Order: sequence, then C-alpha cells, then structure tokens
Amino acid sequence: MTIPRPVRDGVLRFLLRGASVRGEVVVLDRAWREVIARHALPAPVRDRLGELSAAAALLGATLKFDGSLVLQIHGDGPVVLFVVEYRSDGSYRATAKLREGASIPPDTPLPALVDTQRGGRFVVTLDPHGRAPDRPAWQGVVPLEGTTVAGVLERYMQRSEQIPTRLWLAADGERAVGLLLQRLPDEGGRPEPDIDGWNRLQQLAETVAPEELLTLSADELLRRLFWQESLHAFDHRPCRFACRCTREKVGEMLRMLGSDEVEAILAERGEIEVRCEYCNQAYRFDLVDSIALFHPVAPAPEGAPKRH
Ligand SMILES: [Zn+2]
Repeated sequence: MTIPRPVRDGVLRFLLRGASVRGEVVVLDRAWREVIARHALPAPVRDRLGELSAAAALLGATLKFDGSLVLQIHGDGPVVLFVVEYRSDGSYRATAKLREGASIPPDTPLPALVDTQRGGRFVVTLDPHGRAPDRPAWQGVVPLEGTTVAGVLERYMQRSEQIPTRLWLAADGERAVGLLLQRLPDEGGRPEPDIDGWNRLQQLAETVAPEELLTLSADELLRRLFWQESLHAFDHRPCRFACRCTREKVGEMLRMLGSDEVEAILAERGEIEVRCEYCNQAYRFDLVDSIALFHPVAPAPEGAPKRH
C-alpha cells in the first residue's frame, strides 16, 4: 500500500479496492487548537465540538459544490448549541453555546449535554455559494438518535443518504480526529466480489481506541488498521481555521437593530461591543461610528466639482 506524507490539518481520502469501500481520515491539529484557544469550554463540551468538527471535515471533503456544510446540534440541556461550518475551500470554524449558569462535570455524556428531555435536534445545512436570495439553503432536521456524535451522524447518514457509513471520532485539547468508512454501491460484474469486506473492515476499525486515534498520524493509523488490505490513498486536502466575520457585517447587524436602539445602548454604556461567536473577535462602536453607520456620507453627485 502507498500512503502519501503524514496528514496534519487535513483530510486523506482512500479506497480499499478489494472490498469496494471508500474511506477518509481527518486530523485537525493546529486548526483545532485555533478554535479552542478562542473559547473556554468544559472538557466534555470541547471534545464533542472537536468530534463534530472532524465529522464536518469528513463529510465536507466530498462536497460536490462550492459552498458550506453546517452541522448543528441544538440542545435542551446545559449545551444549547454546537455548530461547525466547513467550507469547500477547506476552511472551517466552530463554536458551542452553553446555557447560562450551566455546570458540566467531566465525563458528561452527549445525551446529558444536549438531550435531557428528548428535545435535542441534529441539523445539516448545505449552502452553495452564490445561491439566489429567494432560494433557501437546503436543510435537514432530525431528532437526536445515538448517544455519541459518531452515532448521531451514522443514523443521519443511514436515514438521508441510505449509504452504509461508519464514523470513529475523538478529540481532546490538542487534536480532533476522525475515520470514515463508506460502502460503495455494488457495481456487479466483478470476478470475485468480496462480500464480507464491509463487515471485515468495520471490525478492523472497531479495534482502534480513541487514544490511538488521538496520537497516531493518519498514515500510521491506516497501516495499523488495514496493513493486509489493498489500500490506495489519494492526495490530502488541507483544512484550516478561518472566520468570516468583518466589521462591515457587524455594522450591518447594528443597522438592522435600528438607530433608536443603538443610541439607547450608547447613552447607557458609551460604546457597543459585539463579539463574534465563532472567533471571539471584539468589534467596538462608539457614537462617532454610530453616526457613520446611520448617516453615511452620500457620494458626491456626478459632475459635481471635486475638492482638492
Ligand atoms: Zn469571527
């Protein structure tokens, strides 16, 4: 088997030829630490967000359009929201929102974070670039089934795509990592179809412990699991952290709030601070900024004399 250089911050796609199974390994290294450096999250929340990040990169690496894939878990427990946005250029951002005053002990399992009253929801959004404003993004919403992030994703794939798909995910304060196996549709006509291949490969992947996922490089992991298989690895697709917030977008949001509201806050506090929920960047607006927002200077009419 031939495997290209070790993957750091990227997705490696591979094919297990004999068994008609395709797969992917994702390792988020620095890209993951960039996310968690911006949020103080309790360990169980941080780790589930990492797993959802790895899952988004695995599913996003096969997007057939330019645009974004957004995975969200809406919770009814101490965590209100997990959200990861992965874009087809390999950039991603992620955040989690906790209920106010939530206390989350270590080792809290996913259902106790987001599904305490069976009200948790998993939402998948596909949003192509350049979508016409009157055409909404595609969105699928399902109840949370499964007790782990991987389990939730697997049930969703089974329901929506009807392609047998398995995921193994793990995350900690250093890395977010995932392995995906997907059975390819039977094309027929092959001389010796490997009918047990799908089961055999799942069993092999089941032997990987979370600690191995978190410590092995992508090529070490594939060698460890599939050394006896006929594996063909493709090029790896890099992933990186990037946020799309801008001062202009925050200004636009304040404009929608209305000048009365904005002036009332300014009168009380002297300035408005808006923090990006993804990257925690602070944007500050004072009275002068507010006047510029609501009373932009009109461009000089055509033909008007220019001042020098
Ligand atoms: Zn941001």
